[in-house]
Amino acid sequence: HVPYTLKHETKLSQEFTSYFAFAEEKLAELKELGQLADQDNYQESEVYQKNKALFAGERDCHNEEVTKRLSGVIEKDYIRLPKRSERQALQKKELKLPEFPTTTIGSFPQTKDVKANRSAFRRGEISKEEYVAFNKKKIADCVKWQEEIGLDVLVHGEYERNDMVEYFGEALGGFLFTEKAWVQSSGTRCVKPPIIWGDVYRDKPITVEWSVYAQSQTDKIMKGMLTGPVTILNWSFPREDVSLKEMAYQIGIAIRDEVCDLEAAGIRVIQIDEAALKEKLPIRRAEWHSEYLDWAIPAFRLCAGKIRPETQIHTHSEFNEIVKDIDNMDADVISFEASRSNLTIIDALNAAHFETEVGPGVYDIHSPRVPSVDEIVDALRKMLAKIDPDKLWVNPDCGLKTRGIPETEASLKNLVAAAKIVRGELETK
Ligand code: GLN
Repeated sequence: HVPYTLKHETKLSQEFTSYFAFAEEKLAELKELGQLADQDNYQESEVYQKNKALFAGERDCHNEEVTKRLSGVIEKDYIRLPKRSERQALQKKELKLPEFPTTTIGSFPQTKDVKANRSAFRRGEISKEEYVAFNKKKIADCVKWQEEIGLDVLVHGEYERNDMVEYFGEALGGFLFTEKAWVQSSGTRCVKPPIIWGDVYRDKPITVEWSVYAQSQTDKIMKGMLTGPVTILNWSFPREDVSLKEMAYQIGIAIRDEVCDLEAAGIRVIQIDEAALKEKLPIRRAEWHSEYLDWAIPAFRLCAGKIRPETQIHTHSEFNEIVKDIDNMDADVISFEASRSNLTIIDALNAAHFETEVGPGVYDIHSPRVPSVDEIVDALRKMLAKIDPDKLWVNPDCGLKTRGIPETEASLKNLVAAAKIVRGELETK
């Protein structure tokens, strides 16, 4: 989880790097600490003095506007009105979706051409116009593809995103980036976490142009796609001079601006991913709320506190053991990994009187295996034995960015066919 060395970071100025320690630098620091520990007068040593001076110095990382906006947040900003059950009725009327709406979690296959386009742009080999035109073509094709497959709520495919956190870090103010500070994310996938250096703010819309373009390609509902504040925080390197809570709220306000802009631009369903919500849960259960969830859940709620009740908020997260808190995020719909967990989670949801509409993933996206129609129908029937038909969504377990095109198409076609079969069964009941 620690990048290798600062040595090859040629673009970051010393003003910043003097505060950082990746693996090699940490080893050097360990050695220094060992030496200092053996010295009676360690306070006089040059190493100690240098470090002390560094942290005593002024750091240019405050943004008054951010402080002002944060101090202006009031109780009401965390509360969506009317309450969820009433919103659900309004949304059903507005969105006119079929029973068991089908959707995906956001990303579509990041094939070689998508990555090549991004690299060419980064290296300055193509212009911004060429880069954007390529992605728009990808989006248009992806929308058409989803229409042909027969999905109900479409996505733009996330072709412009290298990674769901790095992308937002790059677009927000207050972050720094490295060239080579890779860490392992899962399997052979690696990411370059952004570094939170200063107060976080958003000075212009980030995703609106892509989502609006995608919506312009279809009459179906286009789902806006954002990463939530807790996940952005948990998958970045945080600063140490302010609390995690404060950083989460700063990012929350930035994401709220984006949510409001998407809504104003006509996007009616917005997903705010919180895949990393559980990652900073304290080891001691007794501290789960006081030290973490009591600000992490409000940070998410802040993002959606100012929108119309008809706008549907989705999230994608995981929630073993924190079911109540997840319900308390007050999203309208949550999708989550379920295909490998034998659906035991659904019992936990029922036991907690879970109110959010749910999309338990009906197939595992971590392998290229194509689930059969029968298999998905079977999973849906099992879910329906326990979930109110009004509250069930049909979707894969997670985003499709690591998958290939053939298996994605085959799996999603089977998913849509399965949803249709189960709809038919509901009608004949
Ligand atoms: N929207 C993201 C994607 O589809 C969500 C992934 C995640 O939360 N892990 O890739």
